[in-house]
Order: sequence, then structure tokens, then C-alpha cells
Amino acid sequence: MHYKEAKKILSSGNGMNLYRGCTHGCIYCDSRSNCYQMEHPFEDIEVKSNALELLEKELRSKRKRCMIGTGSMTDPYIPLESELGTVRKAMEIIHRYGFGFTVITKSDLILRDLDLLKKLNRDTRCVVQMTLTTADESLCRVLEPNVCTTARRFEVLKILRDEGIPTVVWLCPILPFINDTKENIEAVTDMCIEAKVYGIVNFGMGVTLREGNREYFYSKLDRHFPGMKEKYILAYGNRYELESPDAAELSAIFQRKCRENGIICDNNAVFGYLERFGDDEEQLTLF
Ligand code: SF4
Repeated sequence: MHYKEAKKILSSGNGMNLYRGCTHGCIYCDSRSNCYQMEHPFEDIEVKSNALELLEKELRSKRKRCMIGTGSMTDPYIPLESELGTVRKAMEIIHRYGFGFTVITKSDLILRDLDLLKKLNRDTRCVVQMTLTTADESLCRVLEPNVCTTARRFEVLKILRDEGIPTVVWLCPILPFINDTKENIEAVTDMCIEAKVYGIVNFGMGVTLREGNREYFYSKLDRHFPGMKEKYILAYGNRYELESPDAAELSAIFQRKCRENGIICDNNAVFGYLERFGDDEEQLTLF
């Protein structure tokens, strides 16, 4: 872990990354791609030393309240967060300034902040987003080795459901020849139905690979799935988008199940939901 001063904390879309790098170890991680120009090893987490001061300053100067998001590039609930508590402090600031909050994670560490999530949900707005890729626990241990498995994430989703906190699931990536089965898509969607998630984000039944994450992914395939790398190279060469050969069938199953159970699976509609922040005027009079 190392510290670095940042110039700015909020992106133009009101997202923030309090940390840079991640230790969850997902074998398919796109954030490892060279295009992100990370100047340090991916597991050597960069902590933005002035993140909270910047956040407060940037929120104070905003003309309109809105949702503030985190977790799109790196999971904020890495083990280091239990020591530093930066995410928690950021949530307190966001709540104090009357903004909404949304976070993407795979970690049950989020439950540490349940009290704040509830406060945000009550006073402004809060949506928790969680990634689920496989219902197979042993496969999950291989694909996402250093974070809690799907069964625990499912428990977290149900706790949030019972606390009235809205949730969205990211069903991605779907790795060709690995988790691209009808049984898996059905099982994960069933969990979402039981957990009463609002919507599911799915970018098609596939994965993207580019320079940086491809090498890492292939080294993990060699280790855990002998012969699979060769199968990928034969099927996809150097392509960026690697779609499952069963993508059409899997998508049809997924969409039908979502439709039948009132889960939104149109990505634009889900993203619109995540950005929604009530009536700005009304929110401003509350604080
Ligand atoms: S949680 Fe996200 S950022 Fe972290 S390793 Fe997994 S895919 Fe990468």
C-alpha cells in the first residue's frame, strides 16, 4: 500500500475511486488492462491521501445534489478498508451534504456500514450493487479467490432486502466454456429473484480481454483449467469481445426469467435508476 495525493476525486459522472488497485484477485479483472496506465503493481493499493478533503470540497461546490458512486474501477471494500475506513468516512460526508450513494462490491465488508447505508437510504438515496458470476462455490473460489463467495454475497443481498435497501446485481463476466451454462444463469437469476433485486446489469454473455488483463487471465487459465487457454485462442484469437457460443440461448433464458419476475434487465433502464435522485428542489429543502 502507498499514498498519493490526488488532484480531483469526483469524475464528470460523479463517480469516485478512493483506492487504486484491488486485492480480490478476480482472474478476469478488466481493471488490470494496460489502457488504465496504472503505475504500480495492481495489488499495491494506492490510497488517495487527500480523498476525503477533496470529496468534501467538491460536494460543497456542487449546484445540485445527485448520486455519488464508487466501485466501478476497483472494489472499495478491500481488506485494507477495514483498517483505513476511508469508504465509511466518505459515506458520512456524502450523507452530511445530502447526496445519494451507490457502490459496487463483491465483499460482505459492506455490512460493516449497514447503519450508514440505512441512514443514506432513509434521508437521501442509497443503492447497493453486487457482482455475481457463478452459483458454483468452488468455481467462485477460483474465479474470485480473495473475496467472499457467491453464497455469502447472496446472504448480503437478502440482508439488504430485509433492511429495505435497494440492490442491483451485475451478472458479468460470463466466461466462455467456464460459467456460461444454462444452469448457472438460471441459478444466479433465481438468487436475484429471491433477493428481490431491482435490476440486473448484463453486457451480453461473454467477457472482454485486452492487453494487460488478457495475460493475467491466460496465466490463471493455465493454472486452473489446463488446455483452456488454447481453446480460447483457437475460438477468439486476439478479439476484445469473447462471446459464449451459447450467448443467444443464455440471454433468452436470462431475459425471460427477469421479465417473468419483474426484474429490470435493460441496462439503460438500470443505469437510469442508479442515477435517479428525486426532485432536486425538494432534496435541497430537506437539508
Ligand atoms: S473486484 Fe473488481 S477490481 Fe477487484 S479484482 Fe475483482 S474485478 Fe478486479
